[in-house]
Amino acid sequence: MSYHHMPDPNDPQAWTRYVEDFRQSAHSSVDWIAEYLGSIRDCPVVPTMHPGELVDTLPAHAPEQGESFDSILNDFRSQILPAVTQWNHPGFMAYFGTSGSTPGILAEMLIAAMNTNGLHWKTSPAVVELEQVAMGWLREWLGLPPEFFGIIYDTASTSTMHALICAREFAQPETRVEGYRGNLVVYTSEQAHSSVEKGAMAVGIGQKNVRKVPTDSQFRMQADALRTLIETDLRNGLQPCCIVATIGTTSSTSVDPVAECAQLADEFGLWLHVDCAYAGPCALLPECAEYFKGIERAHSVVTNPHKWLMTPMDLSAFYTRKPEILRQALSLVPEYLRASEDPRAVHLMDYGVPLGHRFRGLKLWFILRYFGREGVMQFLRRHNQLAREFSGWVDADERFERVAPVPFSVVCFRLRGGDQRNKLLLDTVNASGRIFLSHTALNGQYVIRIAIGNIATGLADVELAWKLILDAAEELLKKQC
Ligand SMILES: *Cc1c(COP(=O)(O)O)cnc(C)c1O
Repeated sequence: MSYHHMPDPNDPQAWTRYVEDFRQSAHSSVDWIAEYLGSIRDCPVVPTMHPGELVDTLPAHAPEQGESFDSILNDFRSQILPAVTQWNHPGFMAYFGTSGSTPGILAEMLIAAMNTNGLHWKTSPAVVELEQVAMGWLREWLGLPPEFFGIIYDTASTSTMHALICAREFAQPETRVEGYRGNLVVYTSEQAHSSVEKGAMAVGIGQKNVRKVPTDSQFRMQADALRTLIETDLRNGLQPCCIVATIGTTSSTSVDPVAECAQLADEFGLWLHVDCAYAGPCALLPECAEYFKGIERAHSVVTNPHKWLMTPMDLSAFYTRKPEILRQALSLVPEYLRASEDPRAVHLMDYGVPLGHRFRGLKLWFILRYFGREGVMQFLRRHNQLAREFSGWVDADERFERVAPVPFSVVCFRLRGGDQRNKLLLDTVNASGRIFLSHTALNGQYVIRIAIGNIATGLADVELAWKLILDAAEELLKKQC
């Protein structure tokens, strides 16, 4: 049987068949999703395959004739799924444990169904206005004042690149027309995410003009070292333009002294960007308030709901108190995009590099409504509590050492001894397929990270991780590795 799915617009019955075909397959897809989420523990966290394996099993050419949903979905289950790393798995504790959620899944389905594009107000008022509403709600949760304007981008790397565009505009507004004339310097800690350096590469500032400020014994940016670097650059005729402080660095989740950075930014007239891509949602928790001190003084802030706010990839929330700078840097309106000048008609295309704008605001709105502030707080506290629990087990076992404080839900630790032993330990645990941990380097040593952040992760999962670690460690110590 051959399939002819391309509906003929002249045949209303063909359209009906096309839609009914969707209805049936959508029901079975939703049933599959529910099964999958219900039995996620049965999947291995990380696929066992070699690079190129999936490519080699799939046809080299697209089909001539359309195929049925049934056959596509079958191949999805039998060929694609086994090659998926299961970020939804409660044993996924590598990098940052992240989480989707059911309201996020449903919102994504509706977003795709409408396929609307909010590049400017008229092209989809709902995209523009709901994004302002949901981002306003999240802004309050982050403790940012109402003058902060929020826009959703794809990732924190994109958000931070836009912060650097703002910083460049703030310092050298002629760049937009004349091109970049050089000399700008960006300051961030040696523990900052690579996206800061990459952003500087992308906007023309250049890697060698990103100063990596030294950190203290707890991996926090040293404000006095920051001041010295700024003063030295000024003396050398350079133009400091931006400080990027991090709340929850990627390696160890350390927290830079944001209030001190804000002080220096004010004193020297610099842009202050705060990267809390991972830890941002914890601003909701009174017990974490000390880490967020000074965030309200930033010029821009990024947090990623797709990390620790139950949002399926992708959704990065960018806020700035100076949206006019972002606009000044990037607004460019050709005649065919000229739109309403009503001040309440926000045109998202004026506030970023992309023109098209996905309806991600709907996803955020679904999630914030479905869980509510209390649900989100419970979710975050559970993870922070599990991390503290795990950290206690590490501290109580003298064969191990903890390498960094645990302000949030990540524990950095190592088996005492050399790096090789820790690499073997990590490989052994990950080979179980039940838990997935990752590593970093701190103080020049190989360090294992356990990152808790999935909605399905409970005490039993963290206990299992610890048991697998202990079993592997005992084997290694027996073999004197
Ligand atoms: C994960 C992370 C990023 C990068 O996030 P993407 O959305 O993948 O670009 C940036 N900064 C910090 C602190 C992060 O934890």
